[in-house]
Amino acid sequence: NSFLELNLSRPLLRACEALGYQKPTPIQAACIPLALTGRDICGSAITGSGKTAAFSLPVLERLLFRPKRVPAIRVLILTPTRELAAQVHSMIEKLAQFTDIRCCLIVGGLSTKVQEVALRSMPDIVVATPGRIIDHLRNSLSVGLEDLAILILDEADRLLELGFSAEIQELIRVCPKRRQTMLFSATMTEEINELVTLSLNKPVRLEA
Ligand code: AMP
Repeated sequence: NSFLELNLSRPLLRACEALGYQKPTPIQAACIPLALTGRDICGSAITGSGKTAAFSLPVLERLLFRPKRVPAIRVLILTPTRELAAQVHSMIEKLAQFTDIRCCLIVGGLSTKVQEVALRSMPDIVVATPGRIIDHLRNSLSVGLEDLAILILDEADRLLELGFSAEIQELIRVCPKRRQTMLFSATMTEEINELVTLSLNKPVRLEA
């Protein structure tokens, strides 16, 4: 039970070491190998389980392994709140510190102009709250999700509680159909299951 067994590239193993991670948490041990195969994943995991690295490490690995031909947004991570988005963004920057993968944060409360410039530079990964990223996609001719390869819905139960259902559906409609989707939620309600049906393709269910 070590990170070495998870088929991650050296820059990512170095980052785990730099962060002091000695071994994968249960959700990481279950999620990382599955996510690397490209399967859709529905995970019930709470904050503190290590779920952020559980989805971020395979995302980074897939970006390293399949370099892009053109600059494009390839991963979108949706979170319910600005605070959570900032935490996920900061975690990804740490895990990607030995790579040239770029991640940007798109949330309310920060300058729209600055974010527009960041989005136009085509970061590999965008961590966003639903309302703000939709504003950008609606108002910008230059930024789109047509090359998106991976969509992540983090804390899906809170996304729905906060009333983001319509925004998520709108975002799913503009994402390519052929993509990998991972959804994480602390609770699995009927509404979450509807969202799972709408957004995931034959998902593997994981519990942590
Ligand atoms: P999360 O559940 O993603 O919010 O992570 C909770 C905390 O656990 C964060 O501070 C992470 O940096 C830390 N963490 C994640 N994975 C590991 C690991 N394998 N070993 C030790 N700490 C970890």
